[in-house]
Amino acid sequence: MAKVERGRPGWTKNLGTLIKARCEVRAWCDTCNAPFVVVDVAKLAQLKGLDYSLWNRRTECRLTDGCTGWNRFYCDGRGMMEKMRD
Ligand SMILES: [Zn+2]
Repeated sequence: MAKVERGRPGWTKNLGTLIKARCEVRAWCDTCNAPFVVVDVAKLAQLKGLDYSLWNRRTECRLTDGCTGWNRFYCDGRGMMEKMRD
């Protein structure tokens, strides 16, 4: 069966478009129950560049000391937080 294209809203393409759209990005852990953190997209763009995409990215948990889970990114997609994963 063909993979269903969920589509990525245009403003989520990379850090540059997220900043332009003032889209809120949050990081949630898949393991611990730490509350989400709002990602400082502008700061991240300084490190990674405006072309950097958060799609399908994950990062080691930074929310809880000693947690071995992964933090994944969510973006504000028309009032609902959407997973940035295909
Ligand atoms: Zn965690």
